[in-house]
Amino acid sequence: MQEIGEKPFRAKQLFQWMYQKGVRSFDEMSSLSKNFREKLSKGCILTTIKEKKIVKSGLDKTIKYLFELNDGNLIESVYMIEGKRVTVCLSTQVGCPIRCPHCATGLMKFKRNLTTGEIVDQLLWINSNSKMPITNVVFMGMGEPFLNYENTINAANILNSECGQEISARKITISTCGITTAMYRYAEEKHKFKLAISLNGTTDDQRNQLVPINKKYSIKELLEASLFYTRKSHKKVTFEYILIADFNDSHSDARRLVKLLSPIPCKLNIIPFNENRHVTYKCPSEETLEKFIKEVYRAPFIVTVRRSKGVDIAAACGQLYTDEIHS
Ligand code: SF4
Repeated sequence: MQEIGEKPFRAKQLFQWMYQKGVRSFDEMSSLSKNFREKLSKGCILTTIKEKKIVKSGLDKTIKYLFELNDGNLIESVYMIEGKRVTVCLSTQVGCPIRCPHCATGLMKFKRNLTTGEIVDQLLWINSNSKMPITNVVFMGMGEPFLNYENTINAANILNSECGQEISARKITISTCGITTAMYRYAEEKHKFKLAISLNGTTDDQRNQLVPINKKYSIKELLEASLFYTRKSHKKVTFEYILIADFNDSHSDARRLVKLLSPIPCKLNIIPFNENRHVTYKCPSEETLEKFIKEVYRAPFIVTVRRSKGVDIAAACGQLYTDEIHS
């Protein structure tokens, strides 16, 4: 503000117009002088995304958004309602360099990191369409958040800020596939947001196939970094385990899973695989799921099972994009 000859307090006003009220034009910023608004519209852009497609689930209240960025790239975000909990799942990259074979985003070419503005704008746009306030944010959309570390943390801070969306840090979750160097950094920097880790396998062989970054950061290294985080933050970490038929759903997998995670203060979230036409992996039968859960329920940590939402609208990350590109 000082550089352009304005008083420093204008910065807070501008921040609130952008991130609290989420206005989409400088003209709406009525508390700013006309002269200042003109300066802004000449030198700045306010919106970084526009809506390309919306798909509403017929089964639940899930809505999937496909957004077009100013350079023509496409990203996805998902809006989910469960009781009073309204969750938005945000993307952090266009495509994803990790290339997990079970994920539709992994099938597309990695293009670039999203800017902080592009990450925040997803939520602001969805918020303007939502009748209920957004209570929870998960960074689990397209991309690996810890490979776009600064912009993801900046976006989380803006959404958490009392001059922004004021979403509690306890209700903001950053999910990583296990970039352990970034996990150590995150722990050292003592961020308040929750951390989730996609584990998805109980042996390195298995995980090398499903989460290829495991060849660089093994399960052992991942668990050490997780333990470090819990000690530094005094918080539990959440492990996500996508359960895939005849791949990681055996009795031995369940027993290994409990053994691996027992030393770590954690929660375990089992997610039966969300089948889609882009990959050949299958969801386990109800019977296999029951047996698996029965075994892991013996664990000394909390275990939950999360059923996929919006299965009729390809709500898992990358599926709508991939459908759009190939249609
Ligand atoms: S699962 Fe996550 S890390 Fe893996 S390819 Fe998909 S978006 Fe990337």
